[in-house]
Amino acid sequence: MKHRSVSLFSRLRPVFSRFGHLLQDVIYPEEALCLACGAVVRSGCLCSDCRDSLRRDDFFSSWAHRDLDGVPAFSLRPHSGVARTLVLRLKHQAAACAAEELAALLLPLPDFLSFTSDTVVTWVTMPARRHRERCIDHGRVLAEAFARRLNLPCRQLLVRREDGARTQASLHMKDRRKNLRQAYAPAGTIDCPVLLVDDVLTTGTTALRCIEALRKAGAAEITVLTATHALRS
Ligand SMILES: [Zn+2]
Repeated sequence: MKHRSVSLFSRLRPVFSRFGHLLQDVIYPEEALCLACGAVVRSGCLCSDCRDSLRRDDFFSSWAHRDLDGVPAFSLRPHSGVARTLVLRLKHQAAACAAEELAALLLPLPDFLSFTSDTVVTWVTMPARRHRERCIDHGRVLAEAFARRLNLPCRQLLVRREDGARTQASLHMKDRRKNLRQAYAPAGTIDCPVLLVDDVLTTGTTALRCIEALRKAGAAEITVLTATHALRS
């Protein structure tokens, strides 16, 4: 009898296990945790406190502006708090929904910023090797999310040369510039306004190299838009 009950239990064990996992998914759904603080959320990927904190940041400091060799560069938020966490989650943990949360900060667009409908959104192309390692081109994901919000087309306008593929973050300032000098090339002729999207604006060196490549291809009107900035005020 004991033998039969053990046998029955072992046959039913996968069912119990499955039921257990389903119950766990209902109580603690993995995809419904706040990306910034880990709290359980009902929709989206931020809890209401973290989303409120992003909105409050908007009240105090938003839309930093900088000139990059004649190109206006705008950033949505300082590289701190929840905005910084979203950028890092997108970049290092392939959390694509972080791009949607950042893109949601775009609208309503401020008066000083407008784009004609022929503006093409593009991104800072990632080296193919790093794309394979990370399984996500976070720049592209962010650009596509921004383009959807702005109702603009999104296309790859830059190609990345592999010999410029050393990680920028690991290099000193002088080596950063040298590494990037030949890193970007245009993918073809450009005869439309361009909106270059990137995650964070730090020294501006990467954006400047991209601007050079876009200008070489004929781009006359370029705007840079980044989710965050690490500029000193
Ligand atoms: Zn949160």
